[in-house]
Amino acid sequence: MLIDSHCHLDFPDFAAERDAVVARARAAGLGRMITISTRIDKYDEIRAIAESYDDVFFTVGTHPHQAHLDPEASVERIVELAAHPRCVGIGEAGLDYHYDQAPRDVAARVFRTHIAAARISGLPLVIHARDADADVAAILEDEMGKGAFKALLHCFTAGPELAAAALRLGLSISFSGVLTFKNSVALREVAASVPLDRLLVETDAPFLAPMPLRGKRNEPAFVVHTAAALAAVKGVTPEALAAATTANVLKLFSKMPAPAALEAA
Ligand SMILES: [Zn+2]
Ligand SMILES: [Zn+2]
Repeated sequence: MLIDSHCHLDFPDFAAERDAVVARARAAGLGRMITISTRIDKYDEIRAIAESYDDVFFTVGTHPHQAHLDPEASVERIVELAAHPRCVGIGEAGLDYHYDQAPRDVAARVFRTHIAAARISGLPLVIHARDADADVAAILEDEMGKGAFKALLHCFTAGPELAAAALRLGLSISFSGVLTFKNSVALREVAASVPLDRLLVETDAPFLAPMPLRGKRNEPAFVVHTAAALAAVKGVTPEALAAATTANVLKLFSKMPAPAALEAA
């Protein structure tokens, strides 16, 4: 069993066939999907999707691309929205200097607000970090000093220094289809260095379909290809990788109930 720890089922790409997408994920052996918020003003829509499927859970937060567009929520407001029984995490929030869509000071402020919400709620923060390794590491270090919080770096594409800093601070690291791309040699080296008990897999669907489906619209079922690539990188069987990453995501997103098949085991 695998869990897609990060997808965007609210995106218009899926509107016409969301039921079929979820059904294909189940057929591929996925036990859970976490649909990740990019805008707090889409909260009702995202919550409704999670309420429609037994195996879909959601998060609340503002993506760094939207930090200047989403109504800037207070820590208290995010914590309040996260109290919904199917809301299992905060984010995605973070810094993205590749696209630089929001002013960097606004994105940093919103990022810290989400960290505070994670700390207070006890829910894990889903961090989006792109081409901002030093600033993300500095903020994580600074905020962890104010009080512990749970977090993961999602769709990891950064360098070994940020991975090391994150691991030192107790964070987990999630890999997407980028791991399977032919030229992701350095990324696979970073993945090999992450302990098995800190690894997660995700699709980030509808983006970044893994090999051999690269270029297609991505969907949660395709996480099996990323998991297979990660198993090869770690030198473990696909079964061992699936068991480890599933246990890790259930431990991190501890508000999300384990699938019945695992509870019975
Ligand atoms: Zn992201
Ligand atoms: Zn995302």
